[in-house]
Amino acid sequence: MSRCTAHASSNTPDVNSVVIVGGGTSGWMCAAAIARIAPPDTRITLIESDDIGVIGVGEATIPTLMEFNDFLGLKEQDVLRECQGTFKLGIDFVDWLEKGQRYFHPFGFYGRDTPEFSFHQLWLRLKFMADTGNVASDTAGDISDYNLCTVAARAGRFAPPQGGADTILSTMRYAYHLDSARYGQMLRRYAQQRNVERIEGLVSTVETDQNSGLLCGVTLDSGQTISGDLFIDCSGFRSLLIGDAMNSEFIDWAHYLPCDRAIAIQTAMNGEPVPYTRATADDAGWRWRIPLQTRMGNGHVYCSEFMDQNEALERLLAGTEGEPLTDPLPLKFRTGHRKTFWNKNCVAIGLAGGFIEPLESTSIHLAQMGIQRLVNLWPGRGCNQSEIAQYNQLMTADYERLRDFIVLHYNATNRTDTPFWQYVKEMRIPDSLAAKLDIFKSSGRIIASPEDLFTPHSWLAVMLGQGVSPQRYDRLVERVPREALIKNMQMLRTAVIKTAASLPTHQDYINRYCAS
Ligand SMILES: Cc1cc2nc3c(=O)[nH]c(=O)nc-3n(C[C@H](O)[C@H](O)[C@H](O)COP(=O)(O)OP(=O)(O)OC[C@H]3O[C@@H](n4cnc5c(N)ncnc54)[C@H](O)[C@@H]3O)c2cc1C
Repeated sequence: MSRCTAHASSNTPDVNSVVIVGGGTSGWMCAAAIARIAPPDTRITLIESDDIGVIGVGEATIPTLMEFNDFLGLKEQDVLRECQGTFKLGIDFVDWLEKGQRYFHPFGFYGRDTPEFSFHQLWLRLKFMADTGNVASDTAGDISDYNLCTVAARAGRFAPPQGGADTILSTMRYAYHLDSARYGQMLRRYAQQRNVERIEGLVSTVETDQNSGLLCGVTLDSGQTISGDLFIDCSGFRSLLIGDAMNSEFIDWAHYLPCDRAIAIQTAMNGEPVPYTRATADDAGWRWRIPLQTRMGNGHVYCSEFMDQNEALERLLAGTEGEPLTDPLPLKFRTGHRKTFWNKNCVAIGLAGGFIEPLESTSIHLAQMGIQRLVNLWPGRGCNQSEIAQYNQLMTADYERLRDFIVLHYNATNRTDTPFWQYVKEMRIPDSLAAKLDIFKSSGRIIASPEDLFTPHSWLAVMLGQGVSPQRYDRLVERVPREALIKNMQMLRTAVIKTAASLPTHQDYINRYCAS
């Protein structure tokens, strides 16, 4: 880090020029969004280094990415065609509760909630009736039977939501599996067409104003200095600006989320792509499978304290199908986030700001949230300290809520077969998660914040899937007469099965709509 005197006061300047360091998915998402909203005379520069490259993983998304693409005006069909995209209805979790067991976390809804009570309370009541011999044992079935995404995913079928709120098909929700490199290129074209200047080069020093501590420029190893008013750190795990230059403390979550390594490999497609991600628990972590149109992304996320790289690679290869198309790519990471995402005139977006490990594919979403909030609080007339504080508070809350959701997957398990699973089962969990679990266990209720990315339906799927069972159901559902409950639930199950069977196969839908 070196010193400059460009801004002699502690007030931040009007933003006439923006410097983005990093051209991974976060950098180009940022460049595209800023190019879309900034006044036309704003100079936007993105610096990336071909020598360093991008992390090159991150292919499963969640439904919110559609909002980002809509904001840019990108058409779904174009994105999917260009990025070899497939549809993702949720995640198939294998061996998480115990070996041989699986459950599905869908994006879509279970049944239909009413203003008085959640749908799952009806199901719980029926299940209690079945468990106590008051109705035939198969009357309630599995909660998944009432979820179209799950039933369709298992049958390899797909269609987007359609119809009014009273139709089963309206309960579908989906996201994408995308080739992240191609998505980055698409955003790069978008940004460059809107006058974002791309500079290839390695940032070697970051210049700070001696008096104010504001960033004022970055110098490349070629000697060129690029100055700016606002700096966006998209440098990935290197965290060049917010970490190295601004010294923002790193809040380390290794205690809750101990996985710190991954190996990724792409293989040729064996058969048709399924409309879901698969996450299979392993001895010291888990393995992913993400199907694109013509290839499969595979990876093994593990904890280096309990497994070495050779064993992790062996286990990854043993679990893949199809010819390898790339060399295995080993990756190191740490879980947690910067205490301040935005400090003075520097904002960290993407991995530079934090990482909660890839289970549930939330990282691109967190970059998107960072960008969306920055756009909402755009500091055109300089950075305002109250807005910066608000931004940091909202981003921290996002990270903490997502952390709790991910920790749930590890901690609520019956597995004790390896030291890793013994650790995560016994570890201390955040108080916020412990409270949520207590409430669910005692009343079946799910307390959700409106800001929660994962809805109560997601919490329900994972809590039940991970073996967390409520002791009671909400008595409000006793207003529904017993016979009506049995009949309506049966009708709903049948309608879900029929609707799923009427959908095209995932492959047919891709062929017709967005084949690459
Ligand atoms: C194992 C694993 C699996 C993942 N899976 C998913 C997933 O399924 N879904 C999901 O949403 N997310 C996933 N992620 C996260 C996802 O990969 C990232 O969120 C996404 O790729 C964005 O990364 P980034 O742009 O922040 O950083 P990077 O891709 O690392 O980009 C950093 C950029 O900074 C540049 N740079 C760095 N230092 C310098 C320098 N000195 N000078 C100039 N340029 C520099 C690099 O050249 C590069 O352009 C996963 C992450 C990991 C580790």
